Amino acid sequence: MKKHKDLIAVLKSNEMRITPARRLLLQFILDNSSKQLSLKDVHDFMEENMPGVDRSSIYRNLEAFKKLDIIQELMLPKLGKRFQYVFDRKVHHFFICKACGKLNKGNKALFEKVESALKDVHGFSKANLSVVFYGYCSSCGKKTAQKEATRSAHGALSEAQQSMR
Ligand SMILES: [Zn+2]
Repeated sequence: MKKHKDLIAVLKSNEMRITPARRLLLQFILDNSSKQLSLKDVHDFMEENMPGVDRSSIYRNLEAFKKLDIIQELMLPKLGKRFQYVFDRKVHHFFICKACGKLNKGNKALFEKVESALKDVHGFSKANLSVVFYGYCSSCGKKTAQKEATRSAHGALSEAQQSMR
Protein backbone atom coordinates (compact mmCIF):
# COMPACT_ATOMS: atom_id res chain seq x y z
CA MET A 1 0.00 0.00 0.00
CA LYS A 2 1.11 3.52 -0.76
CA LYS A 3 2.43 5.57 2.08
CA HIS A 4 1.33 8.94 3.25
CA LYS A 5 4.38 10.56 1.66
CA ASP A 6 3.60 9.04 -1.74
CA LEU A 7 0.16 10.58 -1.65
CA ILE A 8 1.59 13.91 -0.55
CA ALA A 9 3.81 13.70 -3.65
CA VAL A 10 0.71 13.11 -5.80
CA LEU A 11 -0.93 16.22 -4.37
CA LYS A 12 2.24 18.24 -4.95
CA SER A 13 2.55 17.09 -8.54
CA ASN A 14 -1.03 18.23 -9.05
CA GLU A 15 -0.18 21.61 -7.65
CA MET A 16 -2.19 21.20 -4.51
CA ARG A 17 -0.92 22.94 -1.42
CA ILE A 18 -0.09 20.61 1.43
CA THR A 19 -2.11 22.02 4.30
CA PRO A 20 -2.25 20.43 7.76
CA ALA A 21 -5.92 19.58 7.11
CA ARG A 22 -5.07 17.77 3.87
CA ARG A 23 -2.28 15.82 5.56
CA LEU A 24 -4.59 14.75 8.34
CA LEU A 25 -7.38 13.82 5.95
CA LEU A 26 -5.02 11.70 3.83
CA GLN A 27 -3.74 9.91 6.90
CA PHE A 28 -7.29 9.15 8.00
CA ILE A 29 -8.13 7.75 4.57
CA LEU A 30 -4.99 5.60 4.52
CA ASP A 31 -5.57 4.33 8.05
CA ASN A 32 -9.06 3.26 6.95
CA SER A 33 -8.16 2.08 3.48
CA SER A 34 -10.21 -1.09 3.74
CA LYS A 35 -13.34 0.67 4.97
CA GLN A 36 -16.07 2.63 3.29
CA LEU A 37 -16.11 5.95 5.08
CA SER A 38 -19.15 8.16 5.39
CA LEU A 39 -18.95 11.93 5.29
CA LYS A 40 -19.84 11.84 8.97
CA ASP A 41 -16.89 9.55 9.76
CA VAL A 42 -14.60 12.03 8.06
CA HIS A 43 -16.18 15.08 9.74
CA ASP A 44 -16.08 13.48 13.17
CA PHE A 45 -12.44 12.52 12.82
CA MET A 46 -11.42 15.93 11.50
CA GLU A 47 -13.42 17.79 14.15
CA GLU A 48 -11.84 15.68 16.88
CA ASN A 49 -8.31 16.20 15.67
CA MET A 50 -8.59 19.69 14.29
CA PRO A 51 -11.44 21.42 16.14
CA GLY A 52 -13.20 24.14 14.18
CA VAL A 53 -12.09 22.76 10.81
CA ASP A 54 -14.20 24.11 7.96
CA ARG A 55 -16.73 21.54 6.77
CA SER A 56 -16.88 22.84 3.24
CA SER A 57 -13.11 22.60 2.93
CA ILE A 58 -13.28 18.94 4.00
CA TYR A 59 -15.83 18.41 1.28
CA ARG A 60 -13.72 20.20 -1.32
CA ASN A 61 -10.70 18.12 -0.35
CA LEU A 62 -12.67 14.92 -0.74
CA GLU A 63 -13.80 16.09 -4.17
CA ALA A 64 -10.18 16.82 -5.09
CA PHE A 65 -9.05 13.38 -3.86
CA LYS A 66 -11.79 11.85 -5.98
CA LYS A 67 -10.48 13.60 -9.09
CA LEU A 68 -6.98 12.32 -8.34
CA ASP A 69 -8.39 8.78 -7.99
CA ILE A 70 -7.22 8.54 -4.41
CA ILE A 71 -10.73 7.75 -3.30
CA GLN A 72 -13.85 6.60 -5.06
CA GLU A 73 -17.36 7.58 -4.16
CA LEU A 74 -19.81 4.72 -3.76
CA MET A 75 -23.55 4.83 -3.26
CA LEU A 76 -24.42 2.02 -0.90
CA PRO A 77 -28.06 0.93 -0.70
CA LYS A 78 -29.53 1.89 2.69
CA LEU A 79 -26.29 3.56 3.76
CA GLY A 80 -25.86 6.27 1.16
CA LYS A 81 -22.66 7.90 0.05
CA ARG A 82 -19.38 6.37 1.11
CA PHE A 83 -15.74 6.96 0.26
CA GLN A 84 -13.38 4.11 -0.45
CA TYR A 85 -9.62 4.36 -0.83
CA VAL A 86 -8.63 3.07 -4.27
CA PHE A 87 -5.38 4.78 -5.17
CA ASP A 88 -2.88 1.97 -5.73
CA ARG A 89 -5.48 -0.68 -6.38
CA LYS A 90 -5.60 -1.71 -9.97
CA VAL A 91 -9.07 -3.08 -9.62
CA HIS A 92 -11.59 -0.45 -8.69
CA HIS A 93 -14.75 -2.27 -9.17
CA PHE A 94 -17.32 -3.22 -6.69
CA PHE A 95 -20.44 -5.31 -6.62
CA ILE A 96 -23.09 -3.92 -4.38
CA CYS A 97 -26.14 -5.94 -3.45
CA LYS A 98 -29.36 -3.93 -3.64
CA ALA A 99 -31.08 -6.25 -1.19
CA CYS A 100 -28.64 -6.68 1.70
CA GLY A 101 -26.20 -3.88 0.90
CA LYS A 102 -23.18 -6.21 0.93
CA LEU A 103 -20.18 -4.84 -0.90
CA ASN A 104 -17.74 -7.07 -2.73
CA LYS A 105 -14.61 -6.04 -4.51
CA GLY A 106 -14.19 -7.30 -8.03
CA ASN A 107 -11.42 -9.80 -8.58
CA LYS A 108 -8.39 -9.52 -10.77
CA ALA A 109 -9.42 -12.28 -13.19
CA LEU A 110 -12.59 -10.43 -14.15
CA PHE A 111 -10.67 -7.19 -14.53
CA GLU A 112 -8.22 -8.87 -16.89
CA LYS A 113 -11.08 -10.20 -19.03
CA VAL A 114 -12.69 -6.78 -19.27
CA GLU A 115 -9.31 -5.22 -19.99
CA SER A 116 -8.65 -7.59 -22.88
CA ALA A 117 -12.20 -7.18 -24.22
CA LEU A 118 -11.72 -3.41 -24.22
CA LYS A 119 -8.56 -3.88 -26.18
CA ASP A 120 -10.06 -6.31 -28.71
CA VAL A 121 -13.32 -4.49 -29.27
CA HIS A 122 -12.27 -0.87 -28.98
CA GLY A 123 -8.49 -0.93 -29.27
CA PHE A 124 -8.49 0.69 -25.89
CA SER A 125 -5.53 -0.04 -23.67
CA LYS A 126 -4.29 0.50 -20.14
CA ALA A 127 -7.80 0.92 -18.85
CA ASN A 128 -8.19 1.83 -15.27
CA LEU A 129 -11.41 0.18 -14.40
CA SER A 130 -13.55 2.06 -11.97
CA VAL A 131 -17.00 0.56 -11.99
CA VAL A 132 -19.75 -0.15 -9.55
CA PHE A 133 -22.23 -2.90 -10.31
CA TYR A 134 -25.56 -2.82 -8.52
CA GLY A 135 -27.39 -6.10 -8.43
CA TYR A 136 -28.01 -9.02 -6.14
CA CYS A 137 -25.43 -11.09 -4.32
CA SER A 138 -25.64 -14.86 -4.71
CA SER A 139 -27.72 -15.43 -1.58
CA CYS A 140 -30.14 -12.54 -2.21
CA GLY A 141 -30.28 -13.46 -5.89
CA LYS A 142 -31.57 -16.90 -4.99
CA LYS A 143 -34.26 -15.41 -2.76
CA THR A 144 -35.32 -12.97 -5.49
CA ALA A 145 -35.43 -15.75 -8.08
CA GLN A 146 -37.61 -17.83 -5.78
CA LYS A 147 -39.99 -14.92 -5.21
CA GLU A 148 -40.21 -14.29 -8.94
CA ALA A 149 -40.81 -17.96 -9.62
CA THR A 150 -43.65 -17.99 -7.10
CA ARG A 151 -45.06 -14.78 -8.54
CA SER A 152 -45.03 -16.04 -12.12
CA ALA A 153 -46.52 -19.36 -10.99
CA HIS A 154 -49.36 -17.37 -9.44
CA GLY A 155 -49.65 -15.35 -12.63
CA ALA A 156 -49.89 -18.46 -14.75
CA LEU A 157 -52.48 -19.89 -12.40
CA SER A 158 -54.77 -16.85 -12.54
CA GLU A 159 -54.43 -16.70 -16.30
CA ALA A 160 -55.42 -20.35 -16.48
CA GLN A 161 -58.39 -19.68 -14.21
CA GLN A 162 -59.48 -16.78 -16.39
CA SER A 163 -59.27 -18.81 -19.59
CA MET A 164 -61.42 -21.49 -17.98
CA ARG A 165 -64.26 -18.99 -17.47
ZN1 LIG B 1 -27.37 -9.59 -0.85
